[in-house]
Amino acid sequence: MTTLITDRPVCVTGAAGFIAAHLVADLLARGYRVRGTVRDPQSDKYGFLRDFPGADDRLELIGADLLDPPSFQDAVKDCEFVLHTASPYALDVKDPQRDLVDPAVKGTRAVLEACAKEGGVRRVVVTSSMAAITDEPDSERVLTEEDWNDKSSLSRNPYYYSKTLAEREAWRFVEEHEPGFDLVTINPFLVIGPSLTPEINQSNRVFIDLLTGAFPGIMSIHWGFVDVRDVARAHRLAMEVPEAAGRYICANETKSMREVVELLREQGYGDYKLPKLGLDCAAGDFMAVLSSYFYPKGTGSYLRTHIGRTPQFDHTKIRQELGLEFIPVADTIRDTTNDLIAWGHIPGR
Ligand code: NDP
Repeated sequence: MTTLITDRPVCVTGAAGFIAAHLVADLLARGYRVRGTVRDPQSDKYGFLRDFPGADDRLELIGADLLDPPSFQDAVKDCEFVLHTASPYALDVKDPQRDLVDPAVKGTRAVLEACAKEGGVRRVVVTSSMAAITDEPDSERVLTEEDWNDKSSLSRNPYYYSKTLAEREAWRFVEEHEPGFDLVTINPFLVIGPSLTPEINQSNRVFIDLLTGAFPGIMSIHWGFVDVRDVARAHRLAMEVPEAAGRYICANETKSMREVVELLREQGYGDYKLPKLGLDCAAGDFMAVLSSYFYPKGTGSYLRTHIGRTPQFDHTKIRQELGLEFIPVADTIRDTTNDLIAWGHIPGR
């Protein structure tokens, strides 16, 4: 039998999100009491959380909004551990300051201030991102936890900017205020996998696009994949392992679009509209950069900073210090595709 490190509720902000839902399910399965924050606790759309095993007597949902700082005070009451995942995740928004940066940064500050005021909090785990490490991977350089994205702005990869500013704000807060709790960040790359929520997550959309003919051809794009179930586990381990400290790159393996398409074919999805035309060459890269100016701004700047670049990263720290073993990417890709079919997001065959 496992011994829980706390009998007090573990607070998970943004509990209904793609990653957070797995985290809530994992914590409940381990026997923890969970207090999840959602924007509107009365809404029916959180029914799926209440159906998780153990939710009946150990899950409490409470209202909190990143733009309403006092709303987090009740959320962290009596908690020793707070896992802050809530943050808007979108590449294309109308107003990047209002829609991305403000909720990400003000929300992170609000959660940390509430924890500092509460007094009994021992550790806060913040979901940061690889976006806070780089927004323009360099094929020649292996990224580590020492790297910081210093290129994004409101006009260039604004989502990346919001994540970088939010993580910087978190570290600044603990350094300046010495609040009596430690801060750990989990920095995942592209999180994919089966969804416990009916919503389609931004990152799983890649597979909808790949399987429904949205890409003009096989482009020179590479993704650093990580399974959503591993990301959830990483958050719990960051809470449970006493020595956990600092940032943790949470990414398994980089795969090119060509490799992913080949894998999907091998896995039996060859009769979907997978891209065929080989655009992963110098001429294709040139065309992709040119056409990026016709895409919505966020997607356009993502393409210009990622086409032709192969991210390389070192994930030794999370494996050694938290003992995280990654689910093989091929399994994650198969599970993601089957899950998109099961939810009806793409047709079955
Ligand atoms: P989701 O969009 O599924 O989850 C985002 C969560 O943030 C939702 O629960 C949402 O609540 C909440 N949220 C957004 N705005 C507000 C607000 N103003 N007030 C309160 N809650 C808010 O995305 P993910 O699960 O993928 O993302 C979770 C975290 O992981 C984010 O911090 C994201 O930046 C980070 N991340 C994600 C990656 C990925 O590939 N998916 C990669 C790296 C990091 P509601 O349900 O009400 O909309």
